Amino acid sequence: MIASRTLVVLALPLWLLACGARESKKPAMHTPPAEPASPVVKTAAEWQELLTPEQYRILRQAGTERPHGKAYEEFKKQGQGTYHCAGCGALLFSSAHKFDSGCGWPSFYDPAKAQNVQLSKDYSLGGVRTEVTCARCGGHLGHLFEGEGFATPTDQRFCINGGGLQFVPAKVP
Ligand SMILES: [Zn+2]
Repeated sequence: MIASRTLVVLALPLWLLACGARESKKPAMHTPPAEPASPVVKTAAEWQELLTPEQYRILRQAGTERPHGKAYEEFKKQGQGTYHCAGCGALLFSSAHKFDSGCGWPSFYDPAKAQNVQLSKDYSLGGVRTEVTCARCGGHLGHLFEGEGFATPTDQRFCINGGGLQFVPAKVP
């Protein structure tokens, strides 16, 4: 008798844990991550712990995902919502500014929160490009191209690795 009661008591938290795990895998999380209050500084080992290998390669090693990849296919299907840094949660872009540039990477014509998006010169491929990084954690996001003639309000293309972003769908009213 005592033994079976003990079993129930033990099994209940396990069952709750299993349900919780299933719950967290739902894609429709409408709560944006907390905006970092101060610059986010972590060691390489801490970032490796926090990020997937692909996120780490993009954000911390200035990697580029392959064009028309899985992250881009997902990006094309996403509706209204906001795009946050996969490293630190800072708000970066909004679906309101996304457009189809045909380049194979997520494209935005404006940041959602300009102070979270940092621009700097990148000489890594011989010429000069404008690198786009997260201003809060320094994570590499992609590059900015200008004057390409797209029919957008800014004529700018923030060419961003989808793998460095986390999408939060807007709440359906
Ligand atoms: Zn960040």
